[in-house]
Amino acid sequence: MLYYSLKNYKNLVSFEDAVLTGLSPDGGLYMPECIPKLSPKFIHKLPAYDIYTIAMFVIKPYIEKCIPEKYIDNIIHDTLNFSFPLKKIHDNIHVLELFHGPTLSFKDVGAKFMAECLNFFSEKLGKTVTVLVATSGDTGGAVAKGFHKKPGIEVIILYPYNGISSLQKKQITSLGDNIFALEIDGDFDDCQSMVKKAFLDKKVNDKYTLTSANSINVGRWLPQMFYYFLAYRQIIEKNPIELIFSVPSGNFGNICAGMMAEKMGLPIKFFIASTNINDTIPRFLKSEKYHPFPVKKTISNAMDISNPSNFSRIWYLYKKNMFQLRKKLSSYKFTDEETLSIIKIMWKKYKYMLDPHGAIGYLGLRQYLQEINNTSDPAIFLETAHPIKFLDHIPSFLRKKIVPTQELEIFLNTKNTNKKISLSNNFHVFKDWLLERK
Ligand SMILES: *Cc1c(COP(=O)(O)O)cnc(C)c1O
Repeated sequence: MLYYSLKNYKNLVSFEDAVLTGLSPDGGLYMPECIPKLSPKFIHKLPAYDIYTIAMFVIKPYIEKCIPEKYIDNIIHDTLNFSFPLKKIHDNIHVLELFHGPTLSFKDVGAKFMAECLNFFSEKLGKTVTVLVATSGDTGGAVAKGFHKKPGIEVIILYPYNGISSLQKKQITSLGDNIFALEIDGDFDDCQSMVKKAFLDKKVNDKYTLTSANSINVGRWLPQMFYYFLAYRQIIEKNPIELIFSVPSGNFGNICAGMMAEKMGLPIKFFIASTNINDTIPRFLKSEKYHPFPVKKTISNAMDISNPSNFSRIWYLYKKNMFQLRKKLSSYKFTDEETLSIIKIMWKKYKYMLDPHGAIGYLGLRQYLQEINNTSDPAIFLETAHPIKFLDHIPSFLRKKIVPTQELEIFLNTKNTNKKISLSNNFHVFKDWLLERK
């Protein structure tokens, strides 16, 4: 399987090169040259397979011989070492909990998978690989944890000053060693644009073997398909069924992975991209005008993104055709007030605690189901983080109801070493820092 750049279909690279470079030198995102179809027989028999076998079937064609199968198998076992429970909330609405990993967000899946791939490639190359990553909150922690102390890899994380929760900040700044945290005086889009510029800068590339661990990296993006299959495996009772997924979306990597799963043959009827008031995509689907506004801060800060990188992949998957896209995707935005209100209601009515991102996922799903008056198809929203990550934003009377996980208690009891470097949002300041260090 080769990957081409969305900016030039003739620039083909291997999985290894796509993971090692993150973004194509022409600035385009990589896309697999074809999307393999899994047989309907395999799909119907999903419950008969264990999760590792399913993951192997899904990911193998994208890696092929770049990594030996035995090694891929190890990577899969290391990645899927926590649970992905699907729970019924009410009527046909279910939640897929993706927060049982080490940093309590779905990003643990992609980050771990990619770290292990990179570990393999950097050993093979015999040189240090520098991972440059911008985070709106959860990527930083997941990447820091997934890559911490991996030989041959150093990680530089850019996060927006004041843009992330205190727990997220602690997850990024407390590890040290090969993890470097840069606090940027700007928002997530500033961080992302600084990272993108660094990738295209000649001097920086002369000094470093750079790669990105953002969801644009295929090593992080593609394994996110796993849990769509795992959800289907848990829900399949009567055949054939088709699922509806609502995905709280920021950079649109997660939902785009779901769309890839659908193209591979997973029966998904419809997607809902649920956003906060950073609503470029809901507006685009209405007006056909792609017009990002400056980022607005919200309580679902991991989605405070107004120019989502992965949307170019989605647009491409649906042949840059609005009619085709609308047949498969709706998108709604919700305010902080609506988010807080539904968190309270869900606790009161169903004793289910949402985090602000999952709350938006639920709101989007509910709105869509009401609009089309659907009460029968199994409908799933993704709960992308544990509510304890966003404690500052949960209404105070609910805070004590949130039960920390064991993993988190251990983490909270380690002291915060707070190893960070503060920089302005000027690319040249960042570039000088990169060129001057060791
Ligand atoms: C990153 C993140 C999102 C957004 O995911 P994308 O793949 O960027 O759309 C949603 N919720 C949480 C908790 C996140 O950390």
